Amino acid sequence: MRARLLLVPLLLVATAALAPLPAVAGPSGSSGATAPAPAQALWTTPVPASHVTRPFQPPQNPFGAGHRGVDLSGSPRTQVLAAGDGVVVFAGMVAGRPVVSIDHADGLRTTYEPVDPSVAAGTRVTRGSPIGTLAAGHDRCPVSACLHWGLRRGQAYLDPMTLLRPPRVRLLPWR
Ligand SMILES: [Zn+2]
Repeated sequence: MRARLLLVPLLLVATAALAPLPAVAGPSGSSGATAPAPAQALWTTPVPASHVTRPFQPPQNPFGAGHRGVDLSGSPRTQVLAAGDGVVVFAGMVAGRPVVSIDHADGLRTTYEPVDPSVAAGTRVTRGSPIGTLAAGHDRCPVSACLHWGLRRGQAYLDPMTLLRPPRVRLLPWR
């Protein structure tokens, strides 16, 4: 008896959470053959058909040496894409390099450099939308141009490649 009483509010909560979904997913009344997009499609690589030229190497301490992002191969003027939905919080020069930063849900921020921006601070972007073009000159790039792609939550630097690996994993600082 006691267990059944506890279940009632849980079911009510679950019903309330699920209620808006059918109205959005199936207005046409079709057979339901088209499944909703999988959850891991929230992120995309900012440079299609690229490969990693230098991996993420977190520093031993906040001021230590390391590589606070991943480098992706490209070529000059390659279009760079937003990795996920968000809002541009910065597009401009940092220490002589053009940088774009995007804030996402869950306190995540991605950064892209060197990128000549086609967006400005305040621009709302969606996954895969262009944010600018790649410039040459990133440190230790073995090809004609590399995108340095960074991911942070607060002050913690994370490996951006974890965004692209299904199933989605918890994002924790690398040790
Ligand atoms: Zn780099």
